Amino acid sequence: MGLVEQKYFQNRMRKKITAGNWKMNLSYSEAEQLVAELAKVPQEENEKIVVFCPSIYLKSLIDQYGKSVSIGAQNGYHEDYGAFTGEVSFLQLRNIGVQHVLIGHSERREIFQETNTLLQRKVSKAIDLGLSIFFCCGEQLEQRESNNHFTVIAEQLNESLFHLDEQKLAQVVIAYEPVWAIGTGKTASAAQAEEMHQFIREQLSDRYNETVALNTSILYGGSCKPSNAVELFSQPNIDGGLIGGASLLYSDFIAIAEAQKIS
Ligand code: PEP
Repeated sequence: MGLVEQKYFQNRMRKKITAGNWKMNLSYSEAEQLVAELAKVPQEENEKIVVFCPSIYLKSLIDQYGKSVSIGAQNGYHEDYGAFTGEVSFLQLRNIGVQHVLIGHSERREIFQETNTLLQRKVSKAIDLGLSIFFCCGEQLEQRESNNHFTVIAEQLNESLFHLDEQKLAQVVIAYEPVWAIGTGKTASAAQAEEMHQFIREQLSDRYNETVALNTSILYGGSCKPSNAVELFSQPNIDGGLIGGASLLYSDFIAIAEAQKIS
């Protein structure tokens, strides 16, 4: 472990987070059952479990279980109201009790063509409304293979997130999700993930300062499962996971959350 890594490791003030991204999965009754189970799980002060649900389930789940488990939205729109058919605004989400939102997931970037510029607007709006955001960044396989992965991540951070001032950045969790590892069963090695997390923390330190860098939780996402969670979470700069497929099964998701405790 290098000097910088040791320092970050010893000064771990940030929360350990296990976040589930359900995407467009689960029936309402399956969702309710899963959240009811998660609501019974005790959480230490420095730990947090969050689930990002389909928006249509949010109000009912928050009303019933929102005091015991953090329930967030997978997306939102930056205008408050208006002629934006099919969209749900961050304001509407906040009005039904949502406190956490995912922004910039690679599926939103790829399938729905969300650009760094649009994401910057979404980030600003959600933050101004007082929401906590989980900002996703990640490179495509060809970008890694052509050794451009650090440049891509720096661009995503600079163009969509780093316009925030230091105070507002406190509302942000960053999730590093290499696109080639999402839903593919191909996890980044612990060394690859740690290298990028350390890079992101250094970007935070350069743009803001060391305190911000030390206090910002950075999660890894991409085929994280019970069998690889301990190794990933043992890395000094990895503060937890954003979990897709494995968050749909209570036993897997909880095993991943447990991995935080022993890593
Ligand atoms: C995700 O969608 O954010 C994700 C990490 O998915 P998976 O765990 O299935 O790779």
